[in-house]
Amino acid sequence: MKKITIAIDGFSSCGKSTMAKDLAREIGYIYIDSGAMYRAVTLYSIENGIFEGESIDQERLKREMAHIHILFRLNPDTHRPDTYLNDKNVEQKIRTMEVSSKVSPIAALDFVREAMVAQQQEMGRAKGIVMDGRDIGTTVFPDAELKIFVTASPEIRAQRRYDELKAKGEQASFDDILENVKQRDYIDQHRAVSPLRQADDALLLDNSHLTIAQQKEWLMEQFRLRANS
Ligand code: C5P
Repeated sequence: MKKITIAIDGFSSCGKSTMAKDLAREIGYIYIDSGAMYRAVTLYSIENGIFEGESIDQERLKREMAHIHILFRLNPDTHRPDTYLNDKNVEQKIRTMEVSSKVSPIAALDFVREAMVAQQQEMGRAKGIVMDGRDIGTTVFPDAELKIFVTASPEIRAQRRYDELKAKGEQASFDDILENVKQRDYIDQHRAVSPLRQADDALLLDNSHLTIAQQKEWLMEQFRLRANS
């Protein structure tokens, strides 16, 4: 079996991360959540007064990009990678509604994307990686052997996000979440740099009505086909 690169892209909250994490664990690959990297830059911008109200001080963020160090470390309790921003564990902080509502404008900035894509390509140099995001199959790893584009209806995705936040004890309104999901879809699909789109050679997976087990079986089948060829 050869080592391959697996790119999983798609809309927000359609279960990409859970799916990518499970697959990586099952096949012994490294998992990278590229969205967490954009979330970490957003958190940095909020905490340092770069993103205030609706406005982003782009010049300052551009200058400070070199001081934003993001990495992942395996959490021994959850067996999942946690996101670190300048050596601080920010895994919880980057998942709040505040960060979710501000991440898309940050991720639309060309210099932010350039820096993140360069780091992502470096992480995947040795293959044996599953990366999820919006532009992995189109921009980060255009030569990935397996590309999957995941989607589900906005209502189903909002319900999943709502359940997730509630389980963590965070206050959330379903309508606000649905609005946020739709807004992010729009910004992600219409930005000038690396807009969210299905790569020509990506397989489409609509998981609106699939169980986790059905999805996993399908995914493993696709992996075996590519890794054995
Ligand atoms: O995947 P997640 O929802 O955590 O990603 C957060 C945001 O980061 C997305 O809404 C999108 O704006 C941005 N993103 C991106 N490119 C990626 C991954 C995420 O623009 N590869």
